[in-house]
Amino acid sequence: MELRRLKDLQYLRLDFRNEGLQTQHPVCQRLFPNLASSKLSYLSIDMIPRIDRTLLSFVSTTFPCLKTLKLSVTGRLTVDRDCVCWCCFEDVLECCMHSPIPDSYGDANLLAESYAAALQPLHQLTKLQLGIFLSGERMIYEHIVHPAKDNEANHIATSPHNCAICEVYRQEVRAKEELASGIVFQNLPNLCQIKWSTFFDRPDPEDELESSARQPKSFQSGWALFERRDGQVVRL
Ligand SMILES: [Zn+2]
Ligand SMILES: [Zn+2]
Ligand SMILES: [Zn+2]
Repeated sequence: MELRRLKDLQYLRLDFRNEGLQTQHPVCQRLFPNLASSKLSYLSIDMIPRIDRTLLSFVSTTFPCLKTLKLSVTGRLTVDRDCVCWCCFEDVLECCMHSPIPDSYGDANLLAESYAAALQPLHQLTKLQLGIFLSGERMIYEHIVHPAKDNEANHIATSPHNCAICEVYRQEVRAKEELASGIVFQNLPNLCQIKWSTFFDRPDPEDELESSARQPKSFQSGWALFERRDGQVVRL
């Protein structure tokens, strides 16, 4: 395969929007060995259906010199769609693991420990972005029935981001984000920055994974960004 010639590749961005929960792993298995490079320092995979230990282990053993790793599921929810109704949005929700707690990981603690263990080989990793929500999976589904004055008539899918009822989860979710960040920092000594998808922090239009493809204003999400400063976990 021609890709084998890319031995000195240092920077790689992939878009998995055409992959599904079943094809994600086989595609990685076919692709990664061909790109295996001790020099790769930046990897981003956008629109990936799920982030699990299998993926993280595979990434970290294939590309051990990564300094930046960006993986994001949640772009699949905010990407431009033909139809923005709830019914079509529910189909999108079903095709990815946007909120892996509690079905895949019982709580934020277990998720962070599992992810951190899988990322252990990445000794040089300084920046990590994990585009998943740490809010419970139910939150989005419960939000579907919350009234949203402007959009109700059109059945447009709205986000918990600006929902007064979902606000009750704010403190709990933000605490989970901080806890999970602390666990990952503890396990990856060189990591300086970690970022999660969230409904309870600011949107970040500057990030390259928040590409122009993401526009439905009705379904907004943002990023929770943490840094390690003097041994403390600081939300930026
Ligand atoms: Zn529709
Ligand atoms: Zn529909
Ligand atoms: Zn809501």
